[in-house]
Amino acid sequence: MVTQKKKISILVPCYNEQDVFGIMIDRLNKLAESDEMKNYKMEFLLINDGSRDKTLTLMQEEAEKNSRVSYIDLARNYGKEIAMMAGIDNVKADAMVIIDADLQDPPELIPQMIKLWEEGYDDVYARRVSRKGETWLKKWTSKKYYQVLQKSTNVPIQKDTGDFRLLDKKCIEALQQLREQNRNMKALFSWIGFKKKEIEYERDARAAGSTKWKYSKLVGLALDGITSFTTAPLRFATWFGAILSFFAFVFAIIFAVRTLIYGNPVAGWTSTFVAITVIGGIQLLTIGILGEYIGRIFVESKRRPLYYIEQTHYCK
Ligand code: UDP
Ligand code: MG
Repeated sequence: MVTQKKKISILVPCYNEQDVFGIMIDRLNKLAESDEMKNYKMEFLLINDGSRDKTLTLMQEEAEKNSRVSYIDLARNYGKEIAMMAGIDNVKADAMVIIDADLQDPPELIPQMIKLWEEGYDDVYARRVSRKGETWLKKWTSKKYYQVLQKSTNVPIQKDTGDFRLLDKKCIEALQQLREQNRNMKALFSWIGFKKKEIEYERDARAAGSTKWKYSKLVGLALDGITSFTTAPLRFATWFGAILSFFAFVFAIIFAVRTLIYGNPVAGWTSTFVAITVIGGIQLLTIGILGEYIGRIFVESKRRPLYYIEQTHYCK
């Protein structure tokens, strides 16, 4: 009996990646044709996340001559998190590797991931030990973010990992069930659990083209990560409010007693002013925290589909 080759699908979300597209396909082809991969059937599942350049045309041309290429063309630009989800929903493979189009994650690591997967790990993720071509500010904020996130939740979070990882079918099926709109895939990978294994790598600089992230977008993603993971900020608001109310109560009594004993000279407007601004500030902060959560409840409650697909092509 001939045993069927296991199928590995490489998921590549692409947004305006025409500059790097050719290099990326070359690297993936080289990998697929290498000796290490000859016992596997490889698919490149490319997601066009509403690119405004020639990315889609390049995908279509490639699919015509390359039997490994599948693509999903989304109706607009939904962002990387949703683009990945479109791939996760539609993949049919024994395992899937998620990789950036810009080759910052070296595809040459994939055989090593597959080896660990064959040993029984379900989620083999790559931790970057260096990040070339990124500013110190980006590195620092990312480090702090992971620290805060880890402190505020019981779910273990993988530090310095991106989305570059191999996922077993089990993980894919688990992820397919998570339909929330505010997605932070890193948070979800941790949340689903399963047997995880870390490998280390050097993160390269982008091979071509420019980064698609703006700082404002990263802040949004970070907030999504925190709010979808933990309600600790709400707890913080409660505690802060409780402690302040306690002191306010004590002061009220002290001041009342003092007024009764010494009368009420018109002094101390400074302390009043300070108290009002401090408490006002804290109230705004806590209302803001509540707002972050309520806004997300609002978005989730609409129960909209995560994305729409314009056209697809699946390789045989
Ligand atoms: N990406 C996407 N949709 C977007 C933004 C980015 O599919 O709206 C893809 C992009 O094509 C790339 C990956 O996500 O394959 C990572 O993007 P980028 O390299 O710009 O991010 P960085 O590496 O700077 O964090
Ligand atoms: Mg990149």
